[in-house]
Amino acid sequence: MATTALERRRAQVDDKEVRTMHAAVVHDFAEPLRLEEVPIPVPGAGEIVVRIEASGLCHTDIHAAHGDWPVKPTLPFTPGHEGVGIVEQVGLGVTEVALGDRVAVPWLGYACGTCEYCVSGWETLCLEQKNMGYSIDGSFADYVKAYGRYVVRVPDGIDPIDAAPLTCAGVTTYKAIKVAGTRPSDLVAVFGVGGLGHLAIQYAAIAGGRVVAVDVLDEKLELAEELGAEFVVNASRRDPVEAIRELGGVDQAIALAVSPASFGQAYASLRRGGTLVFVALPAENHMELPIFETVLNGITVVGSIVGTRVDLREVFELHAAGKTRVIRETRPFAEVNEAIADVEAGNVPARIVFTPEDAS
Ligand SMILES: [Zn+2]
Ligand SMILES: [Zn+2]
Repeated sequence: MATTALERRRAQVDDKEVRTMHAAVVHDFAEPLRLEEVPIPVPGAGEIVVRIEASGLCHTDIHAAHGDWPVKPTLPFTPGHEGVGIVEQVGLGVTEVALGDRVAVPWLGYACGTCEYCVSGWETLCLEQKNMGYSIDGSFADYVKAYGRYVVRVPDGIDPIDAAPLTCAGVTTYKAIKVAGTRPSDLVAVFGVGGLGHLAIQYAAIAGGRVVAVDVLDEKLELAEELGAEFVVNASRRDPVEAIRELGGVDQAIALAVSPASFGQAYASLRRGGTLVFVALPAENHMELPIFETVLNGITVVGSIVGTRVDLREVFELHAAGKTRVIRETRPFAEVNEAIADVEAGNVPARIVFTPEDAS
């Protein structure tokens, strides 16, 4: 009797020789993720397998699961690019990490290592890059396979549940502040105080900036003040451009909110010589940019995409030194679909971090 590929796979899973794990798998962009039992990956040359202790939920995972972006992931796949855990298997030729190390498995899962971008500190722009939870199965699983060269060791003393959000939200906002060029005494506007914004405020302050936080929820603005924002503006009650202009305008504005209006507000709140940094990816892909004012006021508009391994090491160094606070809540990994619904509804204080069933 002929067997189908699915029956063969099931037989393989039933076989005691094959160790299995749980993974949250996207089979259809219009359906919820499915929790499935699948074989634990086996590392090839240059690869490692990491037992996941914590995995953050980023908005990009939701876009991936819905197939929202022009280049869609190939189905089926497992999202997750804020995975933190312990190296349990090491493939041939891996020298960067060893068994037992705690590592972070970020969005930049692989880059070529030899192109102009890779050798000049811009590996995040490599055209050959592969991304965790998008073109490589990600960390919404008990184990994840990764390239040993592209994971980053998590220093001792950092809680893996803090390390997870730092692996994308942290490194992305840290890099955005670097790209913004914030210097002591600069005034920096952070538009959107969520999973990214609450960290951006802290990195801007570490760089010496004075921070104006803009959001539409009072509780998020209270959090912003706790984390070092000197000024806050509730954009649902007051025009943030007017409020920021009263302060003399900002040297840098970091656009982290997906509301299309906030991009125009961020631009308009700049003082002469100011820089607008694009980070959030709203569904509406365009904004109007006045050429005359941009030229005469010497405005810079720049995009910033995640960060490099060096950036992530620095993010961990700052956290290990007690310089940053990560606002997050943990959920069992089995509640991935409920968590996505809560993030979409805006019911989440900062970052959701999934933990395996047996973790406390
Ligand atoms: Zn992310
Ligand atoms: Zn490259």
